[in-house]
Amino acid sequence: MIESPPGRARTRSSAFPTRDATYDPNCTRCPRLAAYLAAAHARYPDYWCRPVPWFGVKAPHLVLVGLAPGMHGANRTGRPFTGDHAGILLYETLYGLGLATRPQSVSADDPLELRNARITNAVKCAPPDNKPLPDEIRRCNAFLQAELAQLKSARVIVALGRIAHEAVLLAHSLSRGKFIFAHAREHTLEGTRILLDSYHCSRYNTQTRRLTPEMFKSVMARACALADL
Ligand code: URA
Repeated sequence: MIESPPGRARTRSSAFPTRDATYDPNCTRCPRLAAYLAAAHARYPDYWCRPVPWFGVKAPHLVLVGLAPGMHGANRTGRPFTGDHAGILLYETLYGLGLATRPQSVSADDPLELRNARITNAVKCAPPDNKPLPDEIRRCNAFLQAELAQLKSARVIVALGRIAHEAVLLAHSLSRGKFIFAHAREHTLEGTRILLDSYHCSRYNTQTRRLTPEMFKSVMARACALADL
């Protein structure tokens, strides 16, 4: 059980990550994001309005890294890609590949479970306009670095979008110059770990068909093959 900051609604009772090197539910390291979440909490008292923890299994073979919680999605529900458009294609695809027990993620306490997989974000707090600043991405990277270092079983990391791609490189202390983002491109990181890029499954990308369901399914099927799933 986490501690609630004063005045913050406590909407979770089930087990989920508490404070450690990979996640701090009370983090206020980024003043702009902390102020943004405090203002959001005043306006939407039922929203999660904290850093959003990872979702999935403890020892995944596959990790998906998103950008940051959406204000009315993950920031509302407290689960990545849950409650807004960005999660629709994501969870449907995971379900189709046997990586999720349901095709939709509705709330943080619905019965959905992931299989062999975990979803986390490059930035744990919802940023204004879905755009974290470079300093915020760097600060939050300490959590992603700790998480990816802990997940020895994670053979494959899927980066959803360029910011996630760069955050994964930073978390492995690798320079961007050698690993250029491109949809469906594979990069070998340390040892046998592979970073696989995808366009982000945002409303904009899916509605403009920059990312079609077929394209996303194909990347995720490749991720499963690389992870021996
Ligand atoms: N919701 C998330 O949790 N992450 C994203 O990148 C987008 C929406």
